[in-house]
Amino acid sequence: MTKEQTALDVACEQLCIAAEKLGLEPEIHEMLKYPKRSLIVSITVKMDDGGLGVFSGCRVQHWDARGPFKGGIRYHPNVTLSEVTALAMWMTWKCAVVDIPYGGAKGGVCCNPKKMSKGELERLTRRYTSLLLDFIGPYRDVPAPDVYTDAQTMAWIMDTYSQFKGYSVPECVTGKPISIGGSEGREEATSLGVVICAREAAKRIGLKLKGATLAVQGFGNVGWNAAKMAHDMGWKIVAVSDSVGGIYNPKGLDPRKVYEHKSKTGSVVNYKGCKKITNEELLETKCDILVPAALENQITKANADRIKAKIVAEGANGPTTPHADKALYEKGITLVPDILANAGGVTASYFEWVQNLTREHWTLEEVNRKLEIKMVKAFNDVCNLAKKENSDMRTAALMLGVGRVADAIRTLGLWP
Ligand code: GLU
Repeated sequence: MTKEQTALDVACEQLCIAAEKLGLEPEIHEMLKYPKRSLIVSITVKMDDGGLGVFSGCRVQHWDARGPFKGGIRYHPNVTLSEVTALAMWMTWKCAVVDIPYGGAKGGVCCNPKKMSKGELERLTRRYTSLLLDFIGPYRDVPAPDVYTDAQTMAWIMDTYSQFKGYSVPECVTGKPISIGGSEGREEATSLGVVICAREAAKRIGLKLKGATLAVQGFGNVGWNAAKMAHDMGWKIVAVSDSVGGIYNPKGLDPRKVYEHKSKTGSVVNYKGCKKITNEELLETKCDILVPAALENQITKANADRIKAKIVAEGANGPTTPHADKALYEKGITLVPDILANAGGVTASYFEWVQNLTREHWTLEEVNRKLEIKMVKAFNDVCNLAKKENSDMRTAALMLGVGRVADAIRTLGLWP
């Protein structure tokens, strides 16, 4: 993260922008600045070497006026309470933008999962879940995967929660493996949403998608699946990267082969026939569409002027600072903001939760059809508002999200 601004600074500045444009009551603005509840936990884990590891973790519940708290859990060495608070706030707006009945939350554990065994990760996850037991649940707060957590992590959460309850509760978590109640299409849903948004943005600016060039920062679940889908649709992937570094090939990359290389060597770097580039260079690559799908604070004051893409579709949460938003908008770049572009994940999570609660299992076609409808509707809502307000899409998305949450708060009233 750059020293320029923390993720929470960015989230609070964005809230200010929306509050001003909406003419939000100062009391509601004040309420929304802070999470409703934050739980800090210390997680003691038996390590494989016989010693004990002590990890700090948290779960931040931002606002739940529109429904139960919802949001992922992140395992990363740089996780902080402040970062998780920003991510929780973004979840609140995101769920409102796609109009699903949830509030926003996020969890984080400060650890390096790349250096931990599967057994250590399982014990960490179960212990963390046990510490959250009174705060999560199908009608209270529903976790999901985020950076460096996956379907297996969710299975351990579901099992731990269910063991304590004494019966199976699949609806307590989403992003689970299909064999235990996960939804078809959930794993690819965030990427599908990103691709749908990039496609809709391309339509609006008259960009031909066949052969359009794409650069993807991050080759985790979101980045890799987005590259795969884009490749299948005939877009040309010219650059990808991961935490180690990036690769560039103007002739185009086959993401499946790059994935195979990463599985064998641990990184996309050194994939044959490519020029090695840094993550910074990837962002500045000449391309039609740029998908930041890694971490926060990537497009900032420092590099916004050098971004060459026509469309930026944010797979990551918080990759762009408000200063950079303004610079990109002035350059005529269409930026589809995180709380819209990557909302496909939580939307499919909502579908999973509904399926669990009704004991149904939908086909992949049904999930993807419903996802397409939700994403296109949200995209058009945001675009229309941006046009009306003469603003960029981020401001419009924030106005839509914050506005809906504020509306719910007013309608509920304040107890006591
Ligand atoms: N972690 C994802 C996000 O940031 C998904 C959250 C969810 O499915 O609840 O949107």
